[in-house]
Amino acid sequence: MNTTIGKIRLSFEEMWERIMACDARYDGLFFTAVKTTRIYCRPSCRSRKPKKQNVEFYVRLNEAEAAGYRPCKRCQPEFEHSPWNEFVLKARSFIVEHYRENLLLKDVADHVKLSTYYLERLFKQETNETPRMVLEKVRVDRAAHLLRCSDKSNLDICYESGFHTPSNFYKAFKRHHGCSPGEYREQGAPIVREAARRKIPRQQSPAAQRQTSPSSIVK
Ligand SMILES: [Zn+2]
Repeated sequence: MNTTIGKIRLSFEEMWERIMACDARYDGLFFTAVKTTRIYCRPSCRSRKPKKQNVEFYVRLNEAEAAGYRPCKRCQPEFEHSPWNEFVLKARSFIVEHYRENLLLKDVADHVKLSTYYLERLFKQETNETPRMVLEKVRVDRAAHLLRCSDKSNLDICYESGFHTPSNFYKAFKRHHGCSPGEYREQGAPIVREAARRKIPRQQSPAAQRQTSPSSIVK
């Protein structure tokens, strides 16, 4: 089963991986509906995970509601928590559609009709991340999925995930997973839960910021 999100397609399996990881970067891009409870959630919801066979995914909230699902009280998928979030959502959706291209920050900013400077500030303020970090994470997610679910070579996976050089691929992958793509595949690595993104404190120490900030991948 594939669901079209904009121009790209996330497979059922990829969406499943993202909800198992409670990955808030995909909030608003799709919704998880649970057939047994008739409740729908954000990908980042930290309630107990449903069984895989009881899950269906919706790209639009009103489709989930039309199918008779009610919003989860815990993650409140029906609310945007900030008026600025609409820009961030639009930008994230654009990144997920275009991660395979040589994406420039300006492309993303043009798409949401903000300046690059303002878009970066808005991202920082709303998510404590930059568009670059989100792009890199989306690429790493795609690579991890392919390592887990395909027998493509590391080099094919590097390019198919939108990385332009193997060295960037290895560095970015290691930063997120703590191991090389080859080691990840050998270990049959589990899906790692993300830290909750929406409630991250605004102030981080400079050392922590250096640790979480990847080198520039949008140039
Ligand atoms: Zn929920």
